Amino acid sequence: MKDPIELVRKNILALAPYSTARDEYTGPIGVYLDANENPYDNGYNRYPDPYQKELKARISEIKGVPVKNIFIGNGSDEAIDLVYRVFCDPRIDNAVSIAPTYGMYKVAAATNDVEFREVQLRGDYSLDVDGLLGAVDKNTKVMFLCSPNNPTGNVFPVSDVERLLAGFDGIVVIDEAYVDFSEEEGWLYRLARYPNLVVLQTLSKAWGMAGLRLGLAFAREDIIALFTRVKYPYNINGVTQRIVLEQLNKDIAGQVEELNGQRRKVVEKLSENPLIRGIYPTDANFVLVKVDDPKGVYDELIRGGVIVRDRSRIKGCEGTLRITIGTPEENVKMLAILDRMAAEK
Ligand code: PMP
Repeated sequence: MKDPIELVRKNILALAPYSTARDEYTGPIGVYLDANENPYDNGYNRYPDPYQKELKARISEIKGVPVKNIFIGNGSDEAIDLVYRVFCDPRIDNAVSIAPTYGMYKVAAATNDVEFREVQLRGDYSLDVDGLLGAVDKNTKVMFLCSPNNPTGNVFPVSDVERLLAGFDGIVVIDEAYVDFSEEEGWLYRLARYPNLVVLQTLSKAWGMAGLRLGLAFAREDIIALFTRVKYPYNINGVTQRIVLEQLNKDIAGQVEELNGQRRKVVEKLSENPLIRGIYPTDANFVLVKVDDPKGVYDELIRGGVIVRDRSRIKGCEGTLRITIGTPEENVKMLAILDRMAAEK
């Protein structure tokens, strides 16, 4: 197995990162005349901590991962972009991923001018491990996986992912944005075993903080240090740092249980509706369903004031709509529209 540092772009290894006077000195200071800030305190006049030390300490406690293995990004989308910027030379290197999956792996590849190779999931949305390994060549630096996968909802078996980790000599990213809704334990606790593994999580889903923009990457210390070196210095603003710290004291277990209970109810009700031709197994806070007329169903839901995600134009998702689990009242409203449509048919 290659040392992940061998995969890093040469310009990134050579980079001298931006530094501040506050990096050079950490002792007691009462007068800050180093950063050209406005000195009058309004709650926001100072730059935030570029290393998010307090936040990382708290996330370390919650996740059971040492601070040195944690990167905090402006959404997971920042971490996805950084993976390309750190490891992939534009127009030379490539990334391999599954399809269908979360769209940003492809968009970030395009903005970084990195070739993106997609390997279709099988009909049952299982991983084509041999297909993925077959798509790799000497310039493949990264493989993006997403488990539970968006938009299909399923978790990939440990044995399949282990084959990819063992068989691919590059960085394997596992995006676990929806892991808090899953019975499976995910990959965080296996981090120490795989030097080439990067796990992404986010506070945007189960933690209910999509509006604050906070994503997490967990990896070996030297990979995290590279992300930190390349990121914008103040990527997490001070308001977000403060509110997230507060919000992390909440216990989300009850709400996750409630949403998972709602998911079971929604799935049960949908399965009784003749409009619904298929319901895919889900470990996330959404469910992908198959219908004969996705556009018609989508439009009728819109007329009723409910928006879902039409995924029917995506290869491998023909005829499908992705429905997020809402509050009990919201779910009832959505189900009632579908029941009425079925009754009028
Ligand atoms: N990963 C997956 C799989 C997602 O579905 C999403 C959002 N839809 C994200 C990442 C984005 O997360 P963030 O809000 O942290 O950027």
